[in-house]
Amino acid sequence: ATPTAVTVGIGRGAEIGVLIRNGEALEVSEHLTTIVFDKTGTLTRGKPDVTDVVAAGMDEERLIGLAASVERNSQHPLAEAIVRKADAIGIPLGEATNFATFGGRGVSAAVDGTLVLIGNPAFLEERNVSLAPSSADAIGRLQDEGKTAVLVAGDGKLAGIIGIADTLKPTSEAAVADLKRMGLSVMMITGDNARTANAIARQIGIDTVLADVLPEDKAREVQRLQEKGESVAFVGDGINDAPALARADVGIAIGSGTDVAIESGDIVLIKDDLTDAVAAVQLSRKVMGRIK
Ligand code: ADP
Ligand code: MG
Repeated sequence: ATPTAVTVGIGRGAEIGVLIRNGEALEVSEHLTTIVFDKTGTLTRGKPDVTDVVAAGMDEERLIGLAASVERNSQHPLAEAIVRKADAIGIPLGEATNFATFGGRGVSAAVDGTLVLIGNPAFLEERNVSLAPSSADAIGRLQDEGKTAVLVAGDGKLAGIIGIADTLKPTSEAAVADLKRMGLSVMMITGDNARTANAIARQIGIDTVLADVLPEDKAREVQRLQEKGESVAFVGDGINDAPALARADVGIAIGSGTDVAIESGDIVLIKDDLTDAVAAVQLSRKVMGRIK
């Protein structure tokens, strides 16, 4: 490509809210074969709400209070949803000590002498918290509805399950349809479990889902695709996925995401509109085609 064509492309991108930070990204984008979307905060709004409270052996308010006492120490979107719920019902929170985070799995702390574990089923299983069949059923039902089942245990026993749902961004489905039409293979990656992830993917029209991926493994999944000969774009908001944005052939950062996303991205979508990811690929095809 001539430097002039790239400059023209960068200028055109700026007009439509697609900030091209790295001119080479335009040339690479023309040849993309796969586009991988992060789920939380990218395809979904990333501001989930508590929708279901299934207490086991304590009342619902106490369950939310216990969970929020721990989660107020976490910045995770799921944690914020639980704290918002406690605020909404007006439950006083307890003092948490020895708070710890286990990336992509959950959190723990002591609250008034009770050791509280909160996280996904794999995290609680790891800590030998057993599930009654009725609890396993409740978890499966929530997940099939596209909700994340957050488990809460006190002193090694399940205290309840909190169902948390995130809303899709309004343009996710249209963007996926356009990208498929353009011949790209579209995938979703998430630290969330496969059942929840598949339920959400189905709503947006994504067929291939990489679920239960720990934050540090997202970049490795991108690399694995590259080793199979794919040219990969990764679209993410920077929470848990900055290394994947950097690793991809083209990193596309959501502008409303974290500062690290914007630093790691080759392209930044200023308007938080996923159809602009489509515009970016179209722009590269147009610009590169023009100068051949
Ligand atoms: P994503 O890839 O969708 O952004 P994460 O990697 O941040 O998800 O988290 C993966 C999973 O780990 C969550 O779906 C949740 O089950 C669990 N988890 C992580 N942090 C917390 C937390 N603070 N409270 C409860 N569960 C958590
Ligand atoms: Mg995310």
